[in-house]
Amino acid sequence: MNDNMEELPETEAQKIFNKEREDQVNSDLLSELVDHVSRGDNYIPWEPVTLPSQGIYYGDKIPYGRIEVKPMGVDVDKLLTNQRLIENGSLPSKIVEVCTRLPDDFSVREMLAGDFNFLLYYLRGITHGNSYEFISECPYCKTKNNYTFDLSNLQETVQVPNENYLEEPMEVHLPKLSESFGKSVNALVRLIRVDDIMKMSRPGNDKIFDPVSKGQARIRKKNNQNKTQVKNAGVDASKLYQDNMKRQIVALIINSEEYKDDRIFQIIDTLHQKDAAVIRDFIEEISPGVDTSLEVTCQNTECAKDTTIMLPWSENFFRSNN
Ligand SMILES: [Zn+2]
Repeated sequence: MNDNMEELPETEAQKIFNKEREDQVNSDLLSELVDHVSRGDNYIPWEPVTLPSQGIYYGDKIPYGRIEVKPMGVDVDKLLTNQRLIENGSLPSKIVEVCTRLPDDFSVREMLAGDFNFLLYYLRGITHGNSYEFISECPYCKTKNNYTFDLSNLQETVQVPNENYLEEPMEVHLPKLSESFGKSVNALVRLIRVDDIMKMSRPGNDKIFDPVSKGQARIRKKNNQNKTQVKNAGVDASKLYQDNMKRQIVALIINSEEYKDDRIFQIIDTLHQKDAAVIRDFIEEISPGVDTSLEVTCQNTECAKDTTIMLPWSENFFRSNN
C-alpha cells in the first residue's frame, strides 16, 4: 500500500525525535560501558597470585600467601609523574598498593622485601608483558649494553620459606664474638621488610629493592639467541645489611640468656665483619623471594667480559618497551 508513497523529507519534529532516539541508544551503551569499567573486574581484572613467602611470616593475615593483583592502569601512570613519590622513594610501594588487594589490617610496609620485589616484577609482566628491555653499562669498557630479559624466568627462581625457620626471630651464632668473649653469643634476627628498606632508601638508589638474591636466572642477550646461565655471585648487598643490621637484630643471646635493651646497639655497631657476614648470609639464605641477579656479557666484542648485575628497574620499568 506504500508503493506509491514517496519518502517524505524528515520534518523538524521527526528530526528531533530521531536525534533523541539516537542519543537514547548511545547513552544506554555509554551507561553500559561506564558500568563495565566501574566494575573493573571486566576491564582490568583481578587475578590471584601466591607470594614467595606463602604468607608464613604474616601471622594469619595472608593465608597461604594468596593475594589478588591487577595490571597497572592510568592510576599508576599518574603516580609515575608524581615527583614527590619519586623523590621520597615511595613510588614502588604506592604502585603495589594500587595494584594489589591486601587485607585491611595489612600494610605494604609489613611485606617482606622478597615478596615485594616479586610483586613489582609480576605487575610489570601482567601489564606490559614479560619481555623487559634494559640498558646496563659495562664496568670495564663503559659500553652501554642493551639486554632483553624474560621476566617469566623469575618464576623459576622463587624461593619459598625455609622449613627450619618458619618463625621470627631466628637465632644465628656469631663465631667471632663468641670466640673473643669466651661465651656463646647468638643474635636473634628477623627478615627484611619493605619498611626497613623505605627507612634507608636513598633517591636514585634503585638497587636497594633487591636485597635478597638466591638461586639462578637466565638472560637472553639481545643480539644473540644464546642463553647464558647466570651464576649466583654474591651481589654487593653488604651496604644494605650493614646499615640495616640494627633493624634486623632484635636481641642477643649470651649463654642462653636473652638481652634486648639498647646496650645491644653498642655491640652491633662494633660487630666484626665476619659476624656481620654470617648474619647477612643467613638472612639471604632463608629469605623468600626471587633472584634477580644476572650474569651479562658485554656486547663490545673487544671486551666481551661477564658481569653479574641485579636486574635493574627504574621509572621506565613501569612503562612498556615502546
Ligand atoms: Zn665491556
